[in-house]
Amino acid sequence: MPEDRKAAAKVAPLRKTRPCPECGKPSNREHYPFCSNRCREVDLSRWLTGSYAIPVADDETKADYPDEEN
Ligand SMILES: [Zn+2]
Repeated sequence: MPEDRKAAAKVAPLRKTRPCPECGKPSNREHYPFCSNRCREVDLSRWLTGSYAIPVADDETKADYPDEEN
């Protein structure tokens, strides 16, 4: 098998574009995963204003399991 063929086979196929998490339009490669710079900024400002709940529930997940003492 020619070497260049092997190399081409290794190249991953293009992934299906995900919809923009902000408005649901197909994402733009330049602004991935958003469709535009505007949506990126909207998302970023949402982070900065703290509207996103950041899961930091390590202790709580542990509390879900009862002690295994016999
Ligand atoms: Zn968008």
